[in-house]
Amino acid sequence: MKTLRLILGDQLNRQHSWFNHVNDEHIYVMFEMRQETDYVRQHIQKVIGFFSSMRHFENSLRDNGHKVIYYRINDTKNTQQLIGNLKKLIEEYQIEVFEYLLPDEYRLDKQLREFCSGLDIKTNPCDTEHFYSSRNELQLFFKDSKQLLMERFYRYMRKKHNVLMDGAQPLGGSWNYDKSNRKKWKGQPSVPHPIFFENEVSEVLEDIKSAGIETIGHFEGTIFNYPFNEKQAIEQLRYFCEYLLKYFGDYQDALHTSEIFLFHSRLSFALNTKILSPKTVVNEAITYYQNHSTEIDISQIEGFARQIIGWREYMRGVYWKEMPDYAQYNRLENYNQLPDFYWTGNTKMNCLAVSIKNSLNNAYAHHIQRLMITGNFALLTQVHPNEVDQWYLGIYIDAIEWVEITNTRGMSQFADGGIIATKPYVSSASYIHKMGDYCEKCSYNRNKRTGEDACPFNSLYWNFLDNKKEYLKNNHRMGMMYNLLSRIPEEELKQLKERANRVIKNPDLF
Ligand SMILES: Cc1cc2nc3c(=O)[nH]c(=O)nc-3n(C[C@H](O)[C@H](O)[C@H](O)COP(=O)(O)OP(=O)(O)OC[C@H]3O[C@@H](n4cnc5c(N)ncnc54)[C@H](O)[C@@H]3O)c2cc1C
Ligand code: SF4
Repeated sequence: MKTLRLILGDQLNRQHSWFNHVNDEHIYVMFEMRQETDYVRQHIQKVIGFFSSMRHFENSLRDNGHKVIYYRINDTKNTQQLIGNLKKLIEEYQIEVFEYLLPDEYRLDKQLREFCSGLDIKTNPCDTEHFYSSRNELQLFFKDSKQLLMERFYRYMRKKHNVLMDGAQPLGGSWNYDKSNRKKWKGQPSVPHPIFFENEVSEVLEDIKSAGIETIGHFEGTIFNYPFNEKQAIEQLRYFCEYLLKYFGDYQDALHTSEIFLFHSRLSFALNTKILSPKTVVNEAITYYQNHSTEIDISQIEGFARQIIGWREYMRGVYWKEMPDYAQYNRLENYNQLPDFYWTGNTKMNCLAVSIKNSLNNAYAHHIQRLMITGNFALLTQVHPNEVDQWYLGIYIDAIEWVEITNTRGMSQFADGGIIATKPYVSSASYIHKMGDYCEKCSYNRNKRTGEDACPFNSLYWNFLDNKKEYLKNNHRMGMMYNLLSRIPEEELKQLKERANRVIKNPDLF
C-alpha cells in the first residue's frame, strides 16, 4: 500500500522502528514551514537548529535508501501549511495510507486528528518511541490522587525502569539528594569549555533571511554549536559524563556572571528534537557513574537522572492530562505586560541583564536563571502568563510547548494554582545573592528594601505576598512568609508597596 509517513521537526528519532526496513511503498515527508516559524517569534538559533537538524535527518534517511520528500522553506511547492502540503501530496502520489508520529504538541495533535477524520484513506498515528512513559501514564498513575506530586511519579519511574535501584530500594539508600544540590559556585572547580561542533550553517541562514522570517536574539558567524545528529549528540553526552557529571548535582542551582552553562549538560535541544533518546542519556550516564563511582558521588548522578526520568517525563504527563485548559490558566489573576528589557537585556538589575543577554546570545539559560531570575521577576511584577509563555516559547532552543508551558505557566508562574509547584517560586535578593555573584556587581543594594538604590526584588517580593494574600495565605508552605509579612510595621509596608508599584508601573526605568 502506498503510504505517506509524516515526520515533524521535533521527531528526528533515527532509531525509530519505521526506519528498520526500506520499503519502496513508503514515502517520508518533512516540511520547513511558516506555520511553525511564525506562530510565535522564535530565536534565530532555534530556527537554524531545527532546519539544520531536519536537513541532516533527511540526508541520513536518503543515504539509507528511504524515499523522502523534503520541502525547504523557500521551495515553490511549499504551501507553508501542514495540511495544505499533506493534501497536495496525498493527491499527487495517490496515497492509500497516511501515517504520522504522535505530535507532542496539542495544537498539532488536534490539527492532525481533524485532518485524518476528513480523509477517506486509512490513517494511522504511531508512537514516537522516545519517552519512558506513555502520554496518559501519569494520568492513570494519579487517578485517585488530589495532588500530582513529582516525587511520587519519579519513584514510580525509577522502580518501573529499574534506574539506580538496589533491588526494591533506591541505590545509596535515599531517593533524593536534592538538599546537597545547592552549592554556590565560587570560581572552583573550573568549568570546562563546552564541547565544540564545526557545524556550518550559512546555507540555512541564507534561506531563513531570504524567506523573511522574523526572529529574535543574535547569531554571530556561520558555525553553530549544537549537535545536529545522533553521532554529535552522543559525543555531547559523553563529554558531559566525562567532564561535567561529577559536579552536576552540587552546582545545579548555582548562578554566575561569567559562566553561562556551568556544569549543565546542554542536552535539551538534542533530547527535545528526539535526536537523542532519554534512555540513552540515562543509561550512558549511569554506566559512566558505575565505572567511576570512586570519583563521582551518588548525589550527582541521582540529581541528573531525576531531571530526565523525573521532571521531563512528569511535565509531559501533566501536559497531556491538563491540556487544552492548561494554556488558559491564570489563577493568580496577573495582567501586566512583560517589560521591554526582556528583548534587549537593557536594565540596571544585573541578575536580569546577565540572564536575558545570555538568552539572547545563546538561546539558552540554565534552569535557575529561567526560574529564579526571569521567571521570578515576571511573577513578582504580576505579568500575564500568556506574555511570559510567549517569551519562553520563542527564546530558548529547547522550547517546545509540552515542556515550556508546564515549566513556565506551572512551575514558574503558579498560574495553574499549584498543579505542578506546591508554592510559587518567588524570592527577594537574598536567594539570588545566596546562589550567585550577580548582586556583587549590581547598581542596586541587595540589603535595602526601600530608597532609590534598594534592590527592586525586595519590595516586589513583599508586595506580591501582600497582593496575593487571599489566594496564598492558606498554603501551608507559605505560612512562615506570611508570618514575617505580618510583622512588617504598617508604615514600612506602605513604603515597600509604593516602591514596588513604581517598579511594576514602569519596570523599564529600573
Ligand atoms: C520558566 C522555565 C521554562 C523552561 N522551559 C523549558 C523548555 O522550553 N524546554 C525544556 O526542555 N526545558 C525547559 N525548562 C527546564 C530546564 O530549564 C531546561 O530543561 C534546562 O535548562 C535545559 O538545559 P540543559 O540541557 O543544560 O539541562 P540540564 O540542567 O543539564 O538537565 C538535563 C536535562 O534534564 C531535563 N530537565 C531538567 N529540568 C527540567 C524541567 N524542569 N523540566 C523538564 N525537563 C527538565 C532536560 O531535558 C535537560 O536537558 C524550563 C524551566 C523553566 C523554569
Ligand atoms: S541586587 Fe537585586 S537587582 Fe541587583 S543583582 Fe541582586 S537581586 Fe538582582
